[in-house]
Amino acid sequence: MELIISGLSKTYGNGVKALDTVSLTIPTGMFGLLGPNGAGKSTLMRILATLQEADAGSAMLGELDVLKDKEAVRKVLGYLPQEFGVYPRISAYQMLDHITLLKGVTKGGERKELVDALLQKVNLWEHRKRRIAGFSGGMKQRFGIAQSLIGEPKLIIVDEPTAGLDPGERNRFYNLLTEIGENVVVILSTHIVQDVQELCSKMAIINKGKLLFAGAPSDALNSINDKVWERTIEKAELEKYSSTHQVISNKLVAGRPVIHVLSDQSPADGFARTAPTLEDVFFTHISSDTVATPAHP
Ligand code: ADP
Repeated sequence: MELIISGLSKTYGNGVKALDTVSLTIPTGMFGLLGPNGAGKSTLMRILATLQEADAGSAMLGELDVLKDKEAVRKVLGYLPQEFGVYPRISAYQMLDHITLLKGVTKGGERKELVDALLQKVNLWEHRKRRIAGFSGGMKQRFGIAQSLIGEPKLIIVDEPTAGLDPGERNRFYNLLTEIGENVVVILSTHIVQDVQELCSKMAIINKGKLLFAGAPSDALNSINDKVWERTIEKAELEKYSSTHQVISNKLVAGRPVIHVLSDQSPADGFARTAPTLEDVFFTHISSDTVATPAHP
């Protein structure tokens, strides 16, 4: 099964074109949707999650018309939004039991079995009686995954999942995501390149509502192989280098800026060739229509 998105567009009432004729084919497995803040990722995720209308275009999940057959899509959809909003003051167990009931599992015994299995899967079993409101960020995200897995979904949408997680929590969350079945389309929307690098076999980059790249991360890396050059500079020199070179990233290492520039030939001048990272790919695409921004938010 594939999710085939064709010519999807969305302009908000204030005139912001959040999606501009986006076409993408998303296979089963983990797919990374990468873009800076404001790129249009959440808009795309909300449209695919049937929470928002598109102005034009189509999205087909196998035979299902995502934009039209909303009820049918919701039955096979697992959605983990960026913000859950209000966290209920009831226990994780009660909440999962409630959502499972809403999804149509009416038999008590069956529901208990399902909820128990989910809590174990996301490693929250020992915390099942605690209120979700008191959970850490990582526990809330794992709870979010548990609720998104109810009903054996075919499409799972995870929007900016690792924001605010510490490295340990992020790892646990990554491990959990990779355990989701291979026959499910999982879309992971993020502005964190590392999320995609570690998890996804296919990816897309969007910026300002436009699709800039789609393919395997390795293809993305190959596209700029041998073209990335690195140099440590003084802070005061950044402007000068930005005007003479295509600076794709700029980060501080031990307090001094290290810049990456994109160039077919060696820029000489103290630059050394460096192996491209996915971050370089990301900023190469992004900086072609905006000014290069620091690689670390
Ligand atoms: P991302 O998830 O990549 O950060 P969004 O889809 O949230 O991007 O936003 C894309 C663009 O649409 C941004 O410029 C944002 O300000 C704008 N936008 C998002 N939601 C609304 C809305 N409800 N009304 C008007 N503009 C919006």
